Amino acid sequence: MTNNPDILRIRPDDYDPDDMPVERARQFIVERLKPVQGTERLPIREALGRVLAHDIVSPMDVPGHANSAMDGYALRHVDLATSGATTLTVIGTAFAGQGFSGSIGPGECVRIMTGAPIPPGADCVVMQENVIAADGQATIGPGHQPGQNIRRAGEDLARGQVALAGGHGLTPADLGLLASLGIADIDVVRRLKVAFFSTGDELVPLGQPLGDGQIHDSNRYSLHGLLSQLGCELIDLGVVRDDPAALETALRDAASRADAVITSGGVSVGEADYTRAVMARLGTVLFWKIAMKPGRPLAYGQIGEAQFFGLPGNPVSVMVTFYQFVREALLRLQGRTPRTLPSFTVRCVTPLKKAPGRTEFQRGILFEQDGEWVVRSTGNQGSGILSSMSEANCFVVLEQDRGRVSAGEWVRVQPFEGVLA
Ligand code: AMP
Ligand code: MG
Repeated sequence: MTNNPDILRIRPDDYDPDDMPVERARQFIVERLKPVQGTERLPIREALGRVLAHDIVSPMDVPGHANSAMDGYALRHVDLATSGATTLTVIGTAFAGQGFSGSIGPGECVRIMTGAPIPPGADCVVMQENVIAADGQATIGPGHQPGQNIRRAGEDLARGQVALAGGHGLTPADLGLLASLGIADIDVVRRLKVAFFSTGDELVPLGQPLGDGQIHDSNRYSLHGLLSQLGCELIDLGVVRDDPAALETALRDAASRADAVITSGGVSVGEADYTRAVMARLGTVLFWKIAMKPGRPLAYGQIGEAQFFGLPGNPVSVMVTFYQFVREALLRLQGRTPRTLPSFTVRCVTPLKKAPGRTEFQRGILFEQDGEWVVRSTGNQGSGILSSMSEANCFVVLEQDRGRVSAGEWVRVQPFEGVLA
């Protein structure tokens, strides 16, 4: 027992001025990360979502030759009268994949299809809807521009240009772009190995009945989803009891097999002590109380070469701390060029409870109302309300110093990865 009367003072919303601001914790972690080494060569179809190991330099011009953007007639712009119609002789046809073999002289034109090479001599394509064609002749009005409807060689990608930079995460468009360059296989960074487990004597794996006071282990499943979305190689180590020896064995095993180790639970005030003792034997770790809600306690450190993230136990806190700290860290370890989740401001149509002192990541639903995107709260914001994460498609990020929000105020939202697609 203590005689300190401060202990009995109720602090509004658990506010502590010494808590670490979110941004400072994020910066601290980022500074300690080194991308993993090792690449593998993959056919481009297997490389979606993977990280390019090197720059891709375009080996050719794309398109490789000037070609028509329209079905129409290729001609010499100087031949067209500035006022009144001009009639030209049609001397042949150019198809995509089979161009016209001759060249175009004065008073001549060539019927041309979309994608067909521009015949020598031509510098203008007039779309067929603006041409009267009859008896081998094409009659064309005034007002056309030189170069119109012509796709220039190399206008998409020029030979020698960096088409995609190393560190880039490959999208569907990139697979097409690589194909347009004739590139069939590429070097990507190897997958990140991430080991994870849950801690807690109350946790029961799926498939077993719940005893008194027991709950199913849900965190491991949320983490499985989050890590799968990032393309990690998963090492699921199950549930570990609240026992220092078991924890030490699990952490040792995890760190020997993985680039990063993620745990949930066991970092709150009561439990941090033995996690701290175990970590002192295995590596280095810092325990932070972060000025955020939910997700306050967080442990971060290294076990040998592996990065260690000790997330809180509450199911919503796990996901919030993952999105705010772990996601970016894992992307950087994969060699990805840093990319924080996009955020923007919208009007909030429901009032939000908030006390100054911590950054809050409330769960919101972005939706369209009368032609405008707005956000509303999912309701109960307790850190155990996992259904709020299921329902939400974004975080409403309320700044540390901000107080309550009235309906109609502007708030910053951060959509979850992929949910708006
Ligand atoms: P802890 O941080 O270990 O004190 O846990 C905080 C709260 O989260 C407690 O109510 C735990 O029962 C709950 N919790 C911890 N781990 C899990 C898990 N893996 N799945 C679901 N709930 C959990
Ligand atoms: Mg626990």
